[in-house]
This record gives sequence, structure tokens and C-alpha cells, in this order.
Amino acid sequence: MDFDLNDEQRMWRTAVHDFVAREVKPKARQVDEEGAFNWEAVRKMGPLGLLGLNVDEAYGGAGVDPISAAIAIEELGWGCGSTALAISAHNGLGCAPLTLFGDPQQQQRFLPTVVSGRGGLAALALTEPGAGSDLRGGISTRAVLQDGIWVINGSKMWCTNASLAEFIVTLVRTRSGEGSNSLSLLVVPKETPGLHISPPEKKMGLKGSPAHALTFDNVRVPSEYLLGEEGQGLQQVLEVLNGGRISIGALAVGLAQSAFEEAVRYARQREAFGHPIADFQAIQWMLADAATEIHAARLMVYHSAWLKSIGRSFAKEASMAKLFASEMAERVCRNAIQIHGGYGYSREFPVELTYRDARLMTIGEGTSEIQRLVIARAILSEG
Ligand SMILES: Cc1cc2nc3c(=O)[nH]c(=O)nc-3n(C[C@H](O)[C@H](O)[C@H](O)COP(=O)(O)OP(=O)(O)OC[C@H]3O[C@@H](n4cnc5c(N)ncnc54)[C@H](O)[C@@H]3O)c2cc1C
Repeated sequence: MDFDLNDEQRMWRTAVHDFVAREVKPKARQVDEEGAFNWEAVRKMGPLGLLGLNVDEAYGGAGVDPISAAIAIEELGWGCGSTALAISAHNGLGCAPLTLFGDPQQQQRFLPTVVSGRGGLAALALTEPGAGSDLRGGISTRAVLQDGIWVINGSKMWCTNASLAEFIVTLVRTRSGEGSNSLSLLVVPKETPGLHISPPEKKMGLKGSPAHALTFDNVRVPSEYLLGEEGQGLQQVLEVLNGGRISIGALAVGLAQSAFEEAVRYARQREAFGHPIADFQAIQWMLADAATEIHAARLMVYHSAWLKSIGRSFAKEASMAKLFASEMAERVCRNAIQIHGGYGYSREFPVELTYRDARLMTIGEGTSEIQRLVIARAILSEG
């Protein structure tokens, strides 16, 4: 493939980069210190299309191609991990099930408000206190259809954006047993009685991206809020997560790029033994490795997005991109701190924040171990 971005994608990158540099990056430290969501910037993202990356223009979205969507999340990651994660989860986890499996009535009912920037965001609740990687066997939240109403009982864990959301797409067990046709996706408006959202979890990083435990206590939603066919939830979720993995890969590239830029800047200005530390080969090697790995990860992310854009199978490549980019980001952010010496450990410098934010990327939307499992299964099933 030709990895050159087209003119439209280049212009899009410039527009998003400028917006992030102006509205998002300068607030990243404050967002982290105060654990505050940057609503001010997010409100402005609606008109730019950042809240409806994969949503059709008919519902107010931008409907950009998958490479442009990845670019947007990468740039947001460069600016602020917390804000990027919230917007990545909103687009890739919350809106995606509706764009992929919602009927026109459901799309019209739920999408325009959340893509406009005037309402709340979207969220997806898969993980439970007892199940994350093993959704098929582990989901215990149940929904029972009673007189045209789904009645939901159970609990969820780690739901990004729940408190900020208009609706939470929720994975529930609608049939007994652990079969692959026993799960379904329901759209649950946040204000539905019986849905309790706990205070945000206290996290190591990404402190301006709230993630919550949820309790469903006889939560009732109409049968029309079922996405697609009953029993298809697991297959739907796997499809959503394939796209989400491109997004987390892109976010990891953005975080690494940010840490790398800080490391280069610092290496040029800091002196030791009468030289800028950038003169020392040990420092140069760390910078060279970082630049090489960021480049490789970016190409992997764009390649999986390109496969998606032309309708080819991209699950293996998305897992590879997410695996490599997230583990790369950890290495690059670690070395950015190393290059900063003691100052790298200080909250006065941004690299300690990027390091903490990057740590999630090997866990969320499928751990590194699960990505390796997906990749190995794909390899072993190939003829
Ligand atoms: C900040 C944050 C935001 C999140 N946002 C969301 C969200 O919006 N929505 C949502 O639904 N979830 C969300 N999550 C949850 C996240 O997706 C899960 O934490 C993740 O999928 C791992 O699940 P788990 O925590 O239950 O770990 P477990 O599944 O219990 O895994 C524990 C360990 O065992 C390993 N393991 C498990 N199974 C295997 C296997 N078969 N082979 C090898 N190793 C294995 C894992 O890799 C891991 O190292 C979020 C989590 C965090 C921390």
C-alpha cells in the first residue's frame, strides 16, 4: 500500500493538531492534577467532527475514513491522554455499536445529541467485577424480556465516560449458558431509574477520564433498544473491539510522540560534563530507538486502518498494531524519563504524566496477552 496520506488526510491532521495544541495540550496537567474532565475543549469538538468520527453525516457525524479517525485519536493522545481516552471510548466503543448495528430509528434517537458536543458522550459497559478478558463465560449481568421491556440486573466495572454519557451500550446475558449466542447489546440511557453510577475509580493515570463501576437494579429499557439481533452480542463486541484496538494503538503512538518530543527538547538543552546530553551516544541511541519504534507503530496503526477502509479483514493487524504500539509507548515514555534524569520523576515535567497515562494502553480493550492470543489464533488458522 501507499502509506502517504492524501491531501484531505493531511489537512485533517493539521486542523486536529492545531486544535489540540490550542485547546487540549495546555490543560493536560490541570486535567490530571484536578481529575477534571476537559468539557470546555470537548464541547468545541462537536463542530470539528471529533465526536462523530465514524458516524454518518446524516446524524451529524463527520464520517471520516478509518485512517483519519486514527489520526484524530493520535493527535489527541499527543495532547492529553485523559481527553484522548474519553474521546476514543466515545467514538470507538460508545458510538460504534450504534453505527454498526443500530437501525435508523436507534441511530436517529441516540447519535445526533452525542456527536454535537451539546449533550453528553457515549459509553460501552462490557467489563464486570468478575470478568474482563473472558466476556463469553464471565458476563453475569442478565436481561430478561418482560412484556416488551428488558429488565436488567447486575454490575459492571471500569466503564469509561459513564458519568458523562447520554447512554451506555451494555453487554448482557439474555440466554442461559455460556454459548456464544447467549449475549446481547442493549442501549441504556444514563438517566434510566435503577442505574447507579459509582464515583470515578482512583487511578494511576488518565485521571481526567472518569471510569466507573455501575449497578443495574431492575433497570428497564424498551425492547427497541436491543442492537441488532438478540444473541449476537459477543460477535458484535468483537467487531467493535477490532476497531477500538486501532484507536488505542493510535492513542499510544500519540503519547509516545509527545514523550519523544519532550526528550529531544531536554537532551538538547541539558548539559553534563561540559556538553549537551544529546552529544552522548547513550542518549542518542535512546532517541534513535524511540523514533524508529514510533515510526513502525504509526505505520502498523495506519495499515490496519487502511485494511478496514477497503473492507478487508483487519482483526489480526489491529491486534498487532495495538500490541506493538502500546508496548512501544511504555518503552518510549520510560526512556523519556531516563533522559530527563531526576527531573523526569518530577511533576514539573510532562514525561511522568505521559508515562502514567501510557501504562493503561497494554490493558484496556484487550490486554497484551489477549492480543497475542488473537494474533496466534489467526496465524494458526491460516492455511
Ligand atoms: C482506565 C480503564 C478504562 C477502562 N474502560 C473500559 C470501558 O470503557 N468499558 C469496559 O467494558 N471496560 C473498560 N475497562 C476494562 C478493561 O477492558 C479490562 O480491564 C481489560 O479488558 C482486562 O480485563 P480484567 O481487568 O478483568 O483482567 P482479567 O481478564 O482478569 O486478566 C488479568 C490478567 O490475566 C491475563 N489473562 C486473562 N486471560 C488470559 C488468557 N486466556 N491467556 C493469557 N493471559 C490471560 C490478562 O492478560 C491479565 O494479565 C477499562 C479499564 C481501565 C483500567
